[in-house]
Amino acid sequence: MCDKFTLGTVGMCDRNKSCAFYCTHNKDLGNNKRYQLLIDTYCEGDFHEVCRRKGYEQEKGVAPLADLGPNGYNIDSLQRIY
Ligand code: SF4
Repeated sequence: MCDKFTLGTVGMCDRNKSCAFYCTHNKDLGNNKRYQLLIDTYCEGDFHEVCRRKGYEQEKGVAPLADLGPNGYNIDSLQRIY
């Protein structure tokens, strides 16, 4: 039997208040389905545990700019950044 509480921590990423991606793009999501999907699955869902922005910050020692999406891509250009 599959219990959703065994699959990981469901809920908001604890970095959301200081995250440039989230703070920039969480407004007016109805107009952009790409950002909405990423925020739903990463920032407000289980995938925040594997967010590429966290890996970038750990490796580089600085917080990434808002254009780095949690999946490692620039969401507008679809270019891989990290
Ligand atoms: S982009 Fe990553 S670090 Fe920022 S709020 Fe979303 S899951 Fe957290």
